[in-house]
Amino acid sequence: MKAAKFYAPGDIRLEQIDEPDVAPGQVKIRVRACSTCGTDVKISRSGHPNMSAPQVMGHEIAGEIVDVGAGVEGWAPGDRVQVIAAIPDGTCPECLAGHQAICPNQVSMGYQFPGGFAEYMIVPAEVLAVDGLNRIPENLSYAEASLAEPLACVLNGQELARVGEGDTVVVIGSGPIGCLHVRLARARGAARVILIDLNPDRLAAAAALVHPDLTVATDTQDPVAAVLDATDGRGADVVITAAASGRAQEQGLLMLARRGRLSLFGGLPKDSATITVDANLVHYRELTLVGVNGSTPAHNKRALELIASGAVPVADLITHRLPLDDVLEAIEIVARGEAIKVTIEP
Ligand SMILES: [Zn+2]
Repeated sequence: MKAAKFYAPGDIRLEQIDEPDVAPGQVKIRVRACSTCGTDVKISRSGHPNMSAPQVMGHEIAGEIVDVGAGVEGWAPGDRVQVIAAIPDGTCPECLAGHQAICPNQVSMGYQFPGGFAEYMIVPAEVLAVDGLNRIPENLSYAEASLAEPLACVLNGQELARVGEGDTVVVIGSGPIGCLHVRLARARGAARVILIDLNPDRLAAAAALVHPDLTVATDTQDPVAAVLDATDGRGADVVITAAASGRAQEQGLLMLARRGRLSLFGGLPKDSATITVDANLVHYRELTLVGVNGSTPAHNKRALELIASGAVPVADLITHRLPLDDVLEAIEIVARGEAIKVTIEP
């Protein structure tokens, strides 16, 4: 079968490899959709410390079961499934406390286990052990279901930032994650959503799809002044940075209302991960800075439901569908910021 394997930064190979066989406790799927994300670009450029190379990439996975290993119950060939990306151990103190997204023993599809940029893939027993295989509702396509994984991370972020009824929410970064944040904030009852990006073309393209109440292009506008202006000086209840920018995080803090929450959704490059925070601003205004690290299996299930119910539509965010042969081009399209979401259909 064909698969896209990461060997080293700048060295991803589309190869012919042996089709995997199912072992006891595992499920084998025919991959039908595996979406690309910014992490795939990062891996292609600089690798990832947790990645065992060479490795089949791809972690936003949906497919059809073709074989079920001995001892696996509840699944059968023909079932349509979505697979979690981050796999918690389910047994450590964090997991037992219900915080599986920050499991220190987490492993991932496409990192330690072969991922979804392949014709076939094994769903490891570790995924089944944490209830990480989800049935795709009938009204969803495989491509739509593959977006449950990024939406699960967005959902975790908005839960931690307590996005709710009546909030003014600012999203900085208008890529696919920013678009999902805008849609989910609406679904959670936000009264007003403001979308900010450095690149006016990308911002306009995203806004045409997700219709924020206000857009701010920071190549020509001061985002802090724009948000304060738009809120009669009060600021935003929640600011979410969906961009790898320390400057965006610093600006986000300055545009918060009293009791506001700043979600540091996008991580920073590790050589520039320090920002400046006015501690008195946090103190006197009772601000909250909150992190987020991926999602839990339960978030994946709820993300699928949000997509299936129409609360968070995703079909129109998939702007490119490409065959597995074009996976390298797909990663470059993502890198150039030309797409909202690029889905590989192996
Ligand atoms: Zn754990």
